[in-house]
Amino acid sequence: LPVDQMTVAQARTEIAQLQDLLTEYGIAYYEKDEPVVEDHVYDELYARLVALENHFPQFIKQDSPTQNVGGAQTKSDLAKVTHPAPMLSLGDVFSLAELQEWEDRTKKALDGQQPQYNLELKIDGLAVALRYENGRLIQASTRGNGRIGEDVTQNVKTIKAIPQQLTEPLNIEVRGEIYMPKASFVKLNEEREADGQEPFANPRNAAAGSLRQLNAAITRSRNLSAFIYYTAEPEVLSATHQDQVLQRFAELGLPTDHHNRVIGKMAEISDYIDEYTQKRDGLSYGIDGVVVKVNSLDLEYDLGNTIKIPRWAIAYKFPPEEATTVVQDIEWTV
Ligand code: NAD
Repeated sequence: LPVDQMTVAQARTEIAQLQDLLTEYGIAYYEKDEPVVEDHVYDELYARLVALENHFPQFIKQDSPTQNVGGAQTKSDLAKVTHPAPMLSLGDVFSLAELQEWEDRTKKALDGQQPQYNLELKIDGLAVALRYENGRLIQASTRGNGRIGEDVTQNVKTIKAIPQQLTEPLNIEVRGEIYMPKASFVKLNEEREADGQEPFANPRNAAAGSLRQLNAAITRSRNLSAFIYYTAEPEVLSATHQDQVLQRFAELGLPTDHHNRVIGKMAEISDYIDEYTQKRDGLSYGIDGVVVKVNSLDLEYDLGNTIKIPRWAIAYKFPPEEATTVVQDIEWTV
C-alpha cells in the first residue's frame, strides 16, 4: 500500500513489524555474522521503513534500526572500546534519480555551491578504526554500535596490509574497511565444506567472523586485507580535500584503494558507475557500490552528520547480482 494512502493504524502496525523484523535481521548480520536474508531484501524493507517513518514520525522509536548504527549492542566476548568520535553508517540510494535528489539537498545546504566529489568504490567488508601513536599501531576496534566497538588489536596485527608503524611519527586515528579477498573466501569455504562446517554466506560475513575472534591465530589464517579511507583528524595530515587524505594515507604506508576519482559535476558519475559495473568481477575484492563524498573537507564540516549518517557522503548501491522475489513474500508475511 502506498504510504500516503495508509491509515494511521495501518502505519503503526507495519512500522512496528518492520522495526522488529529489521532488528532481528540486524542481530543475525552484525552480531552473529550469519545473515538470514540477502542484503537487497534487507535494503528494500529498510527503505520501506524509512518512507513510513518519514510520513508518520510519531512512530519513530529511539531503538528503531533507522536511528542506530550496526547492531543495537555489541554482545561478543571481546573487550569494548569507546570511539572518540562516533563511527557512522552511510545513507544509500539505488538509482541515479535518487542520487540527484541527494545532490539537490546537498547543494541547497551549501547555499547553491557546486561541490566537487571524490568517488570511491564501496568495499564490501567491515569498518575498523586504527589508532596510531608516534606512528605505532596501538589499538584497533570494530564499529560496533557506532559509539562502542570491540577491541580487535591483536587480530588486526596479523593483517599484513596494515602497517604496525607509519612512515611518519603521527598521532592519528584512521578508519577503513577490512575485507576478505575473493580468492581467500573461495578457499576458506572449500576448506570449511571439506571439514563439514557451514560455509560463510559472503566475503563480508567471512571477514567479520574472521576478525571478531578471541583467538588471533584464526584471524591470521584467514588472509584478510584492508583499505583505509577516513580520518576525523585531517589536520594531522595537513589535508584539505578527501583525495589528498587518501594520498597522504598512501605516503604513510597505509593501504588505499587507488580507484578513486574526483569529478566536478554529478553527471560524470555515470561513466564511473558503468566502468566499475564492468570491472567489478575482475577485482580481487568485493564491492557493492560507489561512495560519493564531497571532496572539500571544509564543506564536509559545514554539512555535518545526522545521528546515523554523514550528510556529506552517500552510497550508490549496485543492483543485486541475482534479484529474487523474496521481498514480496516477506512483506506479506510479516
Ligand atoms: P553499509 O555497509 O551499507 O554502508 C556503510 C559502510 O560502508 C561504512 O560503515 C563502511 O564500513 C563501508 N564502506 C566501504 N567502502 C567505503 C568507502 N570507500 N568510504 C566510506 N565507507 C565505506 O552500511 P551498514 O550500516 O554497515 O550496513 C547496512 C547494510 O548492511 C544494509 O544496507 C544491508 O545491505 C546490510 N545488512 C544486511 C542484513 C541482512 O540481513 N542481510 C542485515 C543488516 C544489514
